[in-house]
Amino acid sequence: MDMSLQERDSRVIWHPFTQMKDPLPHIPVVRGEGAYLYSEAGTRYIDAVSSWWVNIHGHAHPHIAEKVAEQLRTLEHVIFAGFTHEPAVRLAERLLPLLPGKQERVFYSDNGSTAVEVAIKMCLQYWANKGKGQRKKILAFNHAYHGDTFGAMSVSGRSIFTQPFAEMLFDVEFIDLPDAGNIEQLKSTIKYLSTDLACFIFEPLVLGSGGMLMYEAAYLDELIRTCRQQDVLTIADEVMTGFGRTGRFFACEALSVEPDIFCLSKGLTGGTMPMGITTCNTRVFEAFLSDDKLKTLYHGHSFTANPVACAASLASLDILLNGRTLENIRRITDRHRVFMQEIKGHPKLKDVRQTGTILAMEWQTSGATSYLSDIRDRLYNYFLANGILMRPLGNVLYILPPYVLSDEDLDYIYQTILSALKEI
Ligand SMILES: *Cc1c(COP(=O)(O)O)cnc(C)c1O
Repeated sequence: MDMSLQERDSRVIWHPFTQMKDPLPHIPVVRGEGAYLYSEAGTRYIDAVSSWWVNIHGHAHPHIAEKVAEQLRTLEHVIFAGFTHEPAVRLAERLLPLLPGKQERVFYSDNGSTAVEVAIKMCLQYWANKGKGQRKKILAFNHAYHGDTFGAMSVSGRSIFTQPFAEMLFDVEFIDLPDAGNIEQLKSTIKYLSTDLACFIFEPLVLGSGGMLMYEAAYLDELIRTCRQQDVLTIADEVMTGFGRTGRFFACEALSVEPDIFCLSKGLTGGTMPMGITTCNTRVFEAFLSDDKLKTLYHGHSFTANPVACAASLASLDILLNGRTLENIRRITDRHRVFMQEIKGHPKLKDVRQTGTILAMEWQTSGATSYLSDIRDRLYNYFLANGILMRPLGNVLYILPPYVLSDEDLDYIYQTILSALKEI
């Protein structure tokens, strides 16, 4: 008898973030459309987490599909050193003016982690090129997540994910998220460390993987301003927050000062295929212009600026910039706000918080409040059983939907959360 897809998978695949001894079954998905995923067994799931935060326009969007197919038939790939192409240049031309401040250059790579690696290397080499190589330290937030490659892991908060590699990670100065109580102390810390600091990397407004932790733009403003006074470069990791997620096109639009560098990925291609972008301003770019070849940024990936990924990104921008998507983002933001008031203070919830289209609910736990909390699996399975894909971060349940999610489906998700609050 033929093996099922699930059985075949269980013989040959090693899944991400998954203990492969007796894992929960992996659901075979055969098709996607809008906010829905369809399994082999014919079950329909509402994708309430945009398939790991990438799928901002829903699945199999016809406009992106059309542009990708067209690009595939025209030019699928070309080496990006010594050569260039229209989709890469066009995407940079469209993206740079959309970013806060004066971003000058686009550097392409493959995913969020590589976008972060490039940003870190830009900052470290910036100081080396300036003859101030002693500025080697990086400042980051506790609980930050910037990716899973070694550099990105190093600037991420220390956690169970990084533990096996702890000794191999480079030294980073970690600070708490800013609030009214600690902001002055954090500014003093930056000033105190400044002569050693190359850069400060942060997720603006929302720390995603850290548990959808949210903080105020005004305090981030103060941190960036302090960095600027001390010549410390600043990197906004907008890999998750970019492209409308926080209610603004980029989260940094909420700031009154602009970072030097941006990292983009996830929603960039509308979730169609992997691509990463690191942008920088003139200050950073000019530090690499020299007759001295050693001042070159020697970094690149085989698939740098892949034309098909660029075409997908351009198509995704078309959709994002049409009034309907912006209206959907506002609609979801407003409805989250109303629902938040309804469940705020519920005895089973330790906290409810919202930024734009992200709504996070932190469940009370009796024992460990960690990522390994058993409430996680119970919530995950409960929502799956009700046809909703949610993937809690430990005890933090959250909605991070494709913008096409209908009011009807949003209501159904809210109703299911209410019943989960009764039953779990
Ligand atoms: C997901 C994420 C990354 C890493 O992106 P990958 O494409 O998964 O490597 C980096 N930074 C932030 C803020 C992220 O959410």
